[in-house]
Amino acid sequence: MASTQVAQRFDVFAAVRELRLPEVAARLGVSLEKKGSRYWARCPFHAEKTASFCVGESRWVCWGCGLKGDAVDLAGRLLNVGPLDAAKWIAGELGIADLPRRTVDSAAMRERERQRERKMAFLAAEDRLRDRLSAAHRLYLDAEIRLSPENMGGRVTDGWCRYSDRRLYTEYLLDCLSGQFGDAVRVEAVLDFKDGGRCG
Ligand SMILES: [Zn+2]
Repeated sequence: MASTQVAQRFDVFAAVRELRLPEVAARLGVSLEKKGSRYWARCPFHAEKTASFCVGESRWVCWGCGLKGDAVDLAGRLLNVGPLDAAKWIAGELGIADLPRRTVDSAAMRERERQRERKMAFLAAEDRLRDRLSAAHRLYLDAEIRLSPENMGGRVTDGWCRYSDRRLYTEYLLDCLSGQFGDAVRVEAVLDFKDGGRCG
């Protein structure tokens, strides 16, 4: 019995090694773009806007988060299963073995994809907020200088105080976004303002 298992195990891994990794990756839902002899994708293991996940014929590496491996490693990580189940899944999906497909794995993949989409949406909201804050900051600073006592014949105007306050507040929010006060504050700032909250 034990020797049969060992033989079967060897066969599955050997069969999977014969497959092209880009095909396996695509079947796992990694959306690849070919550039030269390699394929690139946004990394399925960390949130990123530009592709640093590089797939060759048999090995992959992410230049962003440093993870790397072969087809079995990729399937194992994405499906959250051990090497043997990962190899069996690949063999079953690509029709090189008469093995039952694991429907439960599809649910895990979809959940992972949802998490990745949430992360991407957060990063996009953060970008938009940073743009809005930077633009507002420039406007407030311009107004503050225009209304400064130096330019108003020595008078301290309400406008000058108001724009100075707003300029300081946008600077504070930009500092929050830069992570200066920690990740929790950064996340809170983005969530507070992403749906059109006032920027100062
Ligand atoms: Zn990565």
